Amino acid sequence: MMTTTTRIGVMTSGGDAQGMNAAVRAVTRTALAHGAEVYAIRDGYSGMVAGGDQISPLNWDDVGGIIHRGGTIIGTARCMEFRERSGRLIAARNLIRKGISRLVIIGGDGSLTGANMFKSEWSSLVAELLETGQISAEQADENPDLHIVGLVGSIDNDMCGTDITIGADTALHRITEAVDAISSTAASHQRAFIVEVMGRNCGYLALMAGIATGADWVLIPENPPNGDNWEDRMCNIMLEGRKEGRRDSIVILSEGAIDRQGREITATRLQKAIEERMQEEVRITILGHVQRGGTPSAFDRNLSSLLGWSATNHILESQPGDETMMIGIENNRLVNKPLMQCVHETHQCNNAIRDQEFKEALNIRGENFKRNFRILRTLVRARPHEVGKNHQPRKIAILNCGGPAPGMNAGTRAAARLLIDQGHEVVGVKRGIKGLINDWTMPLDWMSCNGWAPIGGSVLGTSRRQPPRPELYSIAQTIDRHQFDGILIIGGIAGYKVAHQLNANRDNFPAFNIPIVCIPATIDNDLPGTELSIGADTALNNIMHAVDKIKQSAVASNRAFVVEVMGRRCGYLALLSGLATGAERIYTHEQGVTLAELNRDVQELIAAFERGKRLGLLVKSEDAHHIYTADFMRRVLQAESGDLFSVRTNVLGHLQQGGDPSPFDRTFATRLAAESVDKILELIETKADDNQLYIGLQRGDFKFSLIEDFQRVMDQQNARPKDQWWLALAPVVEALSKADPSIVDQN
Ligand code: ADP
Repeated sequence: MMTTTTRIGVMTSGGDAQGMNAAVRAVTRTALAHGAEVYAIRDGYSGMVAGGDQISPLNWDDVGGIIHRGGTIIGTARCMEFRERSGRLIAARNLIRKGISRLVIIGGDGSLTGANMFKSEWSSLVAELLETGQISAEQADENPDLHIVGLVGSIDNDMCGTDITIGADTALHRITEAVDAISSTAASHQRAFIVEVMGRNCGYLALMAGIATGADWVLIPENPPNGDNWEDRMCNIMLEGRKEGRRDSIVILSEGAIDRQGREITATRLQKAIEERMQEEVRITILGHVQRGGTPSAFDRNLSSLLGWSATNHILESQPGDETMMIGIENNRLVNKPLMQCVHETHQCNNAIRDQEFKEALNIRGENFKRNFRILRTLVRARPHEVGKNHQPRKIAILNCGGPAPGMNAGTRAAARLLIDQGHEVVGVKRGIKGLINDWTMPLDWMSCNGWAPIGGSVLGTSRRQPPRPELYSIAQTIDRHQFDGILIIGGIAGYKVAHQLNANRDNFPAFNIPIVCIPATIDNDLPGTELSIGADTALNNIMHAVDKIKQSAVASNRAFVVEVMGRRCGYLALLSGLATGAERIYTHEQGVTLAELNRDVQELIAAFERGKRLGLLVKSEDAHHIYTADFMRRVLQAESGDLFSVRTNVLGHLQQGGDPSPFDRTFATRLAAESVDKILELIETKADDNQLYIGLQRGDFKFSLIEDFQRVMDQQNARPKDQWWLALAPVVEALSKADPSIVDQN
C-alpha cells in the first residue's frame, strides 16, 4: 500500500472509556501489519503539546495483554493549552518533528472538535513554524496536510452519527450490576432509592438501564416529565406499585435531567420530593466513576477493535484534501461520517435541551430512542391502563422453547405487560412445548412477572421437545381449551420447528390456525432472519470473563490453552469471543479446520514461544471439526511443543448459558417483545392469512418472515443460517491476532 514508511499517531483524549485499549491495540497492530509505524501520544493533547517522550513508538507487544483493561494505557487528559492557537502551534511542531501527520484520535465530542480545528489550521500552523524557523523547509514540505480519523470514546453515548460509542455498553453493565444489587437490598427493606447515572446531556444510559433493570421511574434530559405535578404522579405510581406488591422503588436519574422549565433535577431535590410524598426515607446512590471503571464488556472490546482496525485502514489511505471522518457503527455495520457534521448534530441536540425544545432533542436522538422511551413508560406503570367498553380482549399464550437463553424472562415480562396494558389476557405456558402438550399453564398478570428482567434462565421453563403426531392432538386441545387467539414463542430453533410443524398441520388441526410469532432466543446466534438473538451477548460476556481468568492462571508458566465454546456448527460465539479475548487462533465449522492449517498454527505458536511468548490462546467452536477436537489439538500441541510450554484444554460448557442477562440482552429482548406484540395483535385484528411469522433484526430494522419459509434461509445440514454477517469480521480477527509481522519477517 505504501512506498515509504508512514507514521501514525494514536491518542486517547477527554473522559476515559472502557474499550479505548482495544482500540489502541487494533490501531497499533493494523498499522504495523501494513508496515507503518505507530506512535502513542500520551495523555491526550497534553502529550502532543509536551512532545518529547510523551510521543513515543508503540510496538506489537506493547499492546499485548491490554484488551481486558479498563481506562487507557496511553493516558488521557484535558488540556487547556490546546484550546489556544499557541498550544496547537507547539503541538504541530512536535508532531512534525516526529514525522507524524496522520492521527487516530479517540475521544468525545470536545476532543474531536479540537481535532477538526487543528486540521483546519494546519497549513497556517506549518507556515508559521517555517517562518519562525521552528521547522525546516523540508519538514514543512513533508507534512503539507494533517490527516485525522476520529473514534468516539464516551460512556455517555452522546454522539450523533454512530449508534453507540466506545464505553457505553460497559457503563450500562456497571449500572445494571449496581441497580440489581441495590434492588435486592431495597426490596428487603421496602425502600425507595434514587440512582444517579452519568450521561451529561444524553439520557441513553438512564433510559436503557431503566428498561434493563425494571426501574420504577426514569428521568432524562431529553424528555422531562410533563406537568407541574410530576412529582405527585411519580410518587403515586410508586405508592400504587407498593400496594400491588412491589417491595422496592427505584428511580434512575440521569445526571443532566431537567424539568420542563429547564431547572436541574438534582438527586437531593428528588429525594425531598419523594420523602415528602411517600413519608419514608429515601436513599441516594450516585454511581459516579464506577461507571467508567472495570473490564470492558465483550461488545466494547469488539466494537473498539473493529473501529480501530477500520480507522487505521482509513488513515493510511487518506489523501490530501480529504475531509476529517469519524468512524462509527450504524445498524450493526461500520460507517464513515464527516466528523464535523456529527459534532454539529450533537451540539444541536444539546442546544435543543438547553432551549427546552424537547421534541427537537428527541427527534435528533432518533426513532429507536423514542420507541424505547415509550416502551419504558408502559413497563414502569404500577397497573395497566383501563380499557374502554368496546375493547375486545384477546388471549395470548407465551412460551419459551429450546435451551435457556439469558434475556428470555425480560422478553416474557415485556410481552406480557405490553399485552396486559392494552387489555389483553396473557397465559404463560410452563416448560415450553411440553407445557402446551400437557396444559401446564399459569395466568400472567401485571405483577406476576414483576422483577423478571434481571433473572437469568427461563422462569416459565423451557424444553426442546419436537412433538410426535399424537401430541399434536394434545396441543390442539390445549389451544382450544384456552381459546388462545395467538402464541408468542421465545426460543431457539426448537421453537421455530414447532411453529413450522403447527403451520404445516393447520389443515388437520383448525386450532393451529392462529397467529404465531417466534422471537429469536439462543446463545448460539444461529437463527434464521436475524443478525442477533437474545442470549448471545450474555454468553459472549460469560466466555470472555472465563477466558480472562484462564489467561490469568497462566502468569507463572508458559502455557497454551485450547478453549472450546458452544455454538454447535455456528462459529459466532467462537469468533466474537476470540476477538474479545485476543485469541491467537479461532476455529469454526464455517471456516473449516485442516491438518495443514493446524500444522502451520502449531509451528507459529512454537516459534512465538521460542521468542519469549508466555501465553497462547486458541478458541474453537464445539463442532468446528468432528475429528480435530479440542483434545486432538491439545495432544498435537503438546507433542510438538515438548518442554517449551504446556497445553490445557478448557471446555467451558454450561456456564455460557447461565448468569444474569447482560443489559443488551434485556433491552433487546424487550424491544423484540414490543415489536412482536404489535405484530401479533395486528395479525389477530386483520385476520391475516399469512399469520405465522418469525421476527429478526436485520440491518437495524425489525423484520417479520413467514415461518413456513424459515428453512429456506437455513443451511439445514449445518443448522445455521446460510448468510452469516459476522463472518465478514474474520479477517479483522486474523489481522489483530497474528504474530508480530516484523519478527516473522526476521525468521
Ligand atoms: P471529550 O473529548 O470527552 O468531550 P473534553 O470536552 O474535555 O472531553 O475535550 C478534551 C480535550 O480536547 C480538551 O481538554 C481540549 O484539550 C480539547 N478540546 C476540546 N474542545 C476543543 C476546542 N473547541 N478547540 C480545541 N480543543 C478542544
